[in-house]
Amino acid sequence: MKRLSVVLPAYNEELMVGKTCRVLREVLTEAEIPYELVVVNDGSSDGTWAEIEKAGKKDPNVTGVHFSRNFGKEAAVFAGLAQASGDVIAVMDCDLQHPPATLVQMYRLWQDGYEVIEGVKSDRGKEGAVHKKCAEFFYGIMTKATKVNMKDASDFKMMDRKAVDSILSMPERNMFFRATSSWVGFKTTSVRFEVQEREAGVSKWSPWSLVKYAFTNIVAFTTVPLQFVTVGGLICFLCSLALMIYSLVQYFGGRAVEGYTTLLLVLLLIGSAVMISLGIIGYYIAKIYEEVKHRPRYIVSKIIHGSEEDLERRK
Ligand code: UDP
Ligand code: MG
Repeated sequence: MKRLSVVLPAYNEELMVGKTCRVLREVLTEAEIPYELVVVNDGSSDGTWAEIEKAGKKDPNVTGVHFSRNFGKEAAVFAGLAQASGDVIAVMDCDLQHPPATLVQMYRLWQDGYEVIEGVKSDRGKEGAVHKKCAEFFYGIMTKATKVNMKDASDFKMMDRKAVDSILSMPERNMFFRATSSWVGFKTTSVRFEVQEREAGVSKWSPWSLVKYAFTNIVAFTTVPLQFVTVGGLICFLCSLALMIYSLVQYFGGRAVEGYTTLLLVLLLIGSAVMISLGIIGYYIAKIYEEVKHRPRYIVSKIIHGSEEDLERRK
């Protein structure tokens, strides 16, 4: 039997991480799937690491990766992929919002020859109407830009070693894992799953952090904002052309236009359009700057292997 690695990013999940490891152990043992759990502690400020160590002592198949600080979920996923040694690798949240039973379903599809199995949300859980609309808008842009259907995409997925190796070989720091897994190609299918309620702990996403997340990923994956600037500039230009012709006609007809208000409005409008455009271009430059600095995506302070702990315990 081929081995499955499950990557679990965890940030302040002391209430859930132990339970998640236990449930996964039960489900995967029952399905007779050899497994390894790679739990990445993304600089939690609570007792998450202690819980991971505890889980490692109970289950030799648990590997814990401890970050030196919080680097964000994408970095944690990346570190988990780099650490995973299985023939097939799954990524799922550490709060049991992604149902473990779907994991087994994904593994069977992989056995049938699929190389990338995407988890697609059939129900977005208890998200508000505004949140759902924003998500729809964001994934609409991403779908257009990546030419991959991103509607209801999630970070819950399973990938063959080949796909994971190609993701690991990508040099960019600003990685949008959700889209990258589709971008690499391979024989792909999807599985629908229902987002479960979070049993304990809190979501790490505030509305503002979601907006930032959306914008960062649009910039990381597409040039849509730059096209927006260009088209905006073009529209401004056409409007000013019309206004120019109108003003000239008025002028030569001896009815010179009253100047001050028009002038002020046009100046303000153009001024703010230029500022916004500069901001967008600046954002791209900032991202380029981050990439050329070539800093590591994350810093690992410690790795534990459940098996080693287990051996120590038996001494
Ligand atoms: N997470 C992480 N680093 C962060 C934020 C979140 O590793 O900086 C993990 C978190 O522990 C969880 C997953 O990413 O396993 C999804 O986070 P959360 O449940 O807060 O998001 P939601 O399900 O509300 O979208
Ligand atoms: Mg969650």
